[in-house]
Amino acid sequence: MLTNDQLDRFDRENFFHPSTHLAQHARGESPSRIVKTAKGVFIEDRDGKKLLDGFGGLYCVNVGYGRESIIEAIADQAKELAYYHAYAGHGTEASINLAKMVMDRAPDHMSKVYFGLSGSDANETNIKLVWYYNNILGRPEKKKIISRRRGYHGSGLMTGSLTGLPGFQKKFDLPLDRILHTEAPYYFRRDDLSMSEADFVSHCVDELEVMIAREGADTIAAFIGEPVLGTGGIVPPPAGYWEAISAVLEKHDIMLIADEVVTGFGRLGTMFGSEHYGLKPDLITIAKGLTSAYAPLSGSIVSEKMWKVLEQGTDENGPIGHGWTYSAHPIGAAAGIANLKLIDELNLVQNAGETGAYLRHTMKEAIGDHPHVGDIRGEGMLMAVEFVKDKADRTFFEASDKMGYKLAAALLSEGVIARAMPEGDILGYAPPLCLTREEADQIVNATHKAVTTVLG
Ligand code: PMP
Repeated sequence: MLTNDQLDRFDRENFFHPSTHLAQHARGESPSRIVKTAKGVFIEDRDGKKLLDGFGGLYCVNVGYGRESIIEAIADQAKELAYYHAYAGHGTEASINLAKMVMDRAPDHMSKVYFGLSGSDANETNIKLVWYYNNILGRPEKKKIISRRRGYHGSGLMTGSLTGLPGFQKKFDLPLDRILHTEAPYYFRRDDLSMSEADFVSHCVDELEVMIAREGADTIAAFIGEPVLGTGGIVPPPAGYWEAISAVLEKHDIMLIADEVVTGFGRLGTMFGSEHYGLKPDLITIAKGLTSAYAPLSGSIVSEKMWKVLEQGTDENGPIGHGWTYSAHPIGAAAGIANLKLIDELNLVQNAGETGAYLRHTMKEAIGDHPHVGDIRGEGMLMAVEFVKDKADRTFFEASDKMGYKLAAALLSEGVIARAMPEGDILGYAPPLCLTREEADQIVNATHKAVTTVLG
């Protein structure tokens, strides 16, 4: 076995980490954190330090770590059939079973699921399907996609373009053309503090309408959004937002892609965020909670309306020219089946709603009155605490103060992981959906201590 020192050296010499300050890491200025094992909501590093993972990996470990039934399902599948492809009508028992389980849970108007590997590739698939759809319908100009500032949809070429966070585009020549960004439904960060929530919703709708009028509805194919804005700050939309936006999209015949990579499979206290907000999407993106990250698997769930046109397309053009080698990988599918069974058996969707509400409530009690805590918000087992320099006039700290990162580091010293979200001083919490009230208390107590240490 390698020593910790060897691991640290080999890591810095060989391993190109995603979303990492490459130079600092290579120089050894940032810690290399080597995780050894995990159980329930706790991870343990190579030094034996145990941490409560308040972000469930990257908000993906919905059922918690170390679940025997998923581990066994993966091992059994690997022994029986580790791989076969899904091209030209091929399948495996696991991939067919999982497709049925996903469709049994998806909103009624949805028809089929296409399996990929990551949230990014599922969104790439979605955009290709939207373009294909409009080409089949003889609308070759209807191709632009509207995303939102602060949206997160992946970091490929198309999906990195849809993502509305400058850090994911800078120096990569993104966004590509055909992509537009409109207002984020981020009431706390509204420019005009005198605006009511209802006025702010009207402002979001107006901005969208102006964009559609400027570009021409016949050039706009789809609108993509996360039911609750995730990486952009964990922001539930103001009341009435999705209703109003959906009405605009319907009026202009613009498709809706609900990116449920985070919100799918229970995170908001409902199986899907679309159900939570009454959305009727044409496509739903799923990943993360589909397997709780025990194996990589994602999906694009396609509506019946869209499916009919895709069928027509293949009648006219032959097989659809889109596929990955690992689409519907049986090991991912086996993990997905065991994972979805566990979500049902342990009532995790319900627990996400109830214990999530408890977590937000106790967090508000503990630090809601702190002069630098500007907003505590969330839905189900998804929560953010946003920090401000001054509460009364809602001014923010300078980015160079790196307050979010300092708070996350202080929290880590208290044994709890939260994520310093990339834009603004925001701590994000998305623990496994099996979180207990005692564990929620531990998160709150540690946060209280970290806030007091860093901000007084
Ligand atoms: N969509 C959303 C809403 C996400 O949060 C993420 C990942 N955080 C993605 C897409 C991309 O998923 P992946 O990292 O698996 O490509």
